[in-house]
Amino acid sequence: MENFPFFTASSKILALAEKAQARAASQFAQINTTQRWNQQKMLAAFQRARVSESCFAASTGYGYDDRGRDVLDEVYAQAFGAEDALVRYNFVSGTHALTVALFGVLRPGDTVLCATGTPYDTIQGVFGLPGREEPGCLKEFGVVYEQVDLLPNGTPDYAELEREIASDCKMVYIQRSRGYSLRPSMSVAEIEKLAAFVKKKAPGCIVMVDNCYGEFIEREEPVARGADLMAGSLIKNPGGGVAPTGGYIAGRKDLVELCSYRLTTPGTGRELGCTLGHNRELFMGAFHAPYVAGEALKTAVFASALFSELGFAVTPTPEEARTDIIQAIELRSREALIAFCRGIQKASPVDAFVVPEPSPMPGYDSDVIMAAGAFTLGSSIELSADGPLREPYAVWMQGGLNYPSGELGVLLAAEELEKAGLV
Ligand SMILES: *Cc1c(COP(=O)(O)O)cnc(C)c1O
Repeated sequence: MENFPFFTASSKILALAEKAQARAASQFAQINTTQRWNQQKMLAAFQRARVSESCFAASTGYGYDDRGRDVLDEVYAQAFGAEDALVRYNFVSGTHALTVALFGVLRPGDTVLCATGTPYDTIQGVFGLPGREEPGCLKEFGVVYEQVDLLPNGTPDYAELEREIASDCKMVYIQRSRGYSLRPSMSVAEIEKLAAFVKKKAPGCIVMVDNCYGEFIEREEPVARGADLMAGSLIKNPGGGVAPTGGYIAGRKDLVELCSYRLTTPGTGRELGCTLGHNRELFMGAFHAPYVAGEALKTAVFASALFSELGFAVTPTPEEARTDIIQAIELRSREALIAFCRGIQKASPVDAFVVPEPSPMPGYDSDVIMAAGAFTLGSSIELSADGPLREPYAVWMQGGLNYPSGELGVLLAAEELEKAGLV
């Protein structure tokens, strides 16, 4: 690789980057194919839903007959291979969309079984796990939470699930992405297998997937492969880096309808909700999403390859099949973790002059450092990295709106380690 006049890396890092690219080449070829598939799928969804310029018109007040809102739902339903979808900028986060889905379909006395171990941090407080009984949590409404941990190799514990899933179990909950853990993420094929297993034990059981970070990484989504419902955030993969906020719920028509009564009110559901003029950017985000997710994925694979060349443990490895855009790197020291985040920050289009510092975070027992210079606050489809300052000093990196800028961020992160004498 060569230096252009705008940013520089040492010859050692550039040489390793070249090796990393060679190592990533076959993955890149595969990603390009999936990216092409998903982009065409999205384009076909736009055409089938008959997206027209009038869909971009703003509505106010109750938002009755907002055609753009309804057509956007149809676009995502088609692209996800779902019967139906609810896509709204009114979802304040992925956690909110997941929460609306859970409260939408669960009722007092129901049991929900999480089949992928302890769920993502913010979701723990929604279920009301021991020590995380937030006011208003599902536990307060009499929803019983049960959990089956993953096996040490990160796959579902089918033997334990066989014992634990009762015939009247209302929901099995699956988290696709690793979140901030070092367990592997769960492929759509594994989710399909798990969903079929659940349905055999308990035919009426709802299989729900936390699909965050997984959208458009494989050719199909979990709801096209046996899951009943899934939800996620529009400031991750499915918003294409364009959606300024929002989330989605997609899946079986009857379940999405129940969710709509929780999103607004019983009786009004999806008929209400003005869009104020946000439809155009949400459509644009949907259109860009498959491409951008592919670019973020390439950035993750390149990071995996380069930091593997530099001698760090990486998960997934450059060769491993992927189902989300998260890359974890064990940096082994406080200094290396800080240097990495500072390098990522230096490749940001926004706030590149800011120097990330470790600081305390609510809910963490150690300081946390974060790098992000994004157009959208908290967006993690834009290049970002973070990690807690404790063993093994792992960093979780994700995003990159386009590969050249993502690649540069990874390169500058490596360069910061090199400058600090850490590699
Ligand atoms: C990001 C994420 C969520 C939702 O997080 P928000 O910050 O609320 O959007 C839920 N689960 C997983 C696994 C995630 O990665």
